[in-house]
Amino acid sequence: MIDITSKESIIEILESKDTNRFNRLIEQAYNVKVYNLGNKVYLRGLIEISNICAKNCLYCGLRSGNSFVSRYELTDSQILEAAEFAYRSNYGSLVLQAGERCSSVYVDRVTKLIGSIKDISNGRLGITLSLGEQSYETYKNWFEAGAHRYLLRIESSNPMLYSKIHPMDNNHLWENRLSALNDLKNIGYQTGTGIMIGLPGQSYQDLAEDLLFIKNFGIHMVGMGPYLRHSQTPMGKEEHTTTDLTLTLKMVAILRLMMPRINIAATTAMQVVDPIGRERAIFAGANVIMPNMTLADVRKEYQIYNNKPGIEDDALITKSKLEENLSKAGIEIGWGEWGDPQAYFDK
Ligand code: SAH
Ligand code: SF4
Repeated sequence: MIDITSKESIIEILESKDTNRFNRLIEQAYNVKVYNLGNKVYLRGLIEISNICAKNCLYCGLRSGNSFVSRYELTDSQILEAAEFAYRSNYGSLVLQAGERCSSVYVDRVTKLIGSIKDISNGRLGITLSLGEQSYETYKNWFEAGAHRYLLRIESSNPMLYSKIHPMDNNHLWENRLSALNDLKNIGYQTGTGIMIGLPGQSYQDLAEDLLFIKNFGIHMVGMGPYLRHSQTPMGKEEHTTTDLTLTLKMVAILRLMMPRINIAATTAMQVVDPIGRERAIFAGANVIMPNMTLADVRKEYQIYNNKPGIEDDALITKSKLEENLSKAGIEIGWGEWGDPQAYFDK
């Protein structure tokens, strides 16, 4: 068995250049996934409801300081149309993602939307939110309206590194992110977090500590991916070499060995580094994919990083391309299932 019991042993795996050892790690992680969760991959239709954001993260193309972006907000009927598409396509659940906004008008609108999505799907579509940091009350209202999962990445478990990639204004503190994650878990959400891999100034020790943070927090779902430059951001203007997918695949595989019963997403950023990156992540222990259901007209405006794939496609094309790739790779889809993280039910 591969040793993942200490920080030192995890760092050693991350640093190792030994291909045989890498292949053994990937194979073991895949086997652990199949043993614990089966071999299916679950799909969540991703709807990017707006690119308007109050935050100014130094790496992200949607940051409020980026005046080159044309800002959009989908109407309720556009969102419900996309949700219906996801429902008709037999996706068990969907993800509503957007930049961060906290006004009461916005918050109430999201609450109503959650109710409407439940209505059009007879309560059958699971709803995941990825709408940034919100107050305890907002999280609770959205939960009571019917959202049952929330994704909020810690981005880095190292508060020093976190402060280097986020501006100091706007109360954008690591401690607030942590406390938001605690709120989500206490309210009862299936709670997801994650990090970016290959950030400037990030060490193998940081990455090993990220994995231990995720484990110790008792998270239910994880989405990690390579950091990618966006040319209209302060960090994107710096020289930086993107890490190849190997490091990301190692992170996925080690996490799967550490937490056999959580959900791990194969993320879009993996597909930027390698066209079949998401499929490779599935074979390294991931079990969730979030195909983009956003209307084609606004996709090009939701560029958190450069070269985001599929921005010319509509939901139907995204769906058929993904299904074809998965079936070519022999990966089975859990149609119509919520695919809850088993770890959520372990007490
Ligand atoms: N505003 C919400 C949701 C949208 S951003 C939020 O921040 O939670 C979702 C994720 O995209 C972020 O958590 C971040 O990890 C990722 N992201 C943003 N910019 C990125 C970049 N340049 N490279 C890789 N991932 C990025
Ligand atoms: Fe806004 Fe999220 Fe991008 Fe930060 S990562 S700027 S919160 S959309």
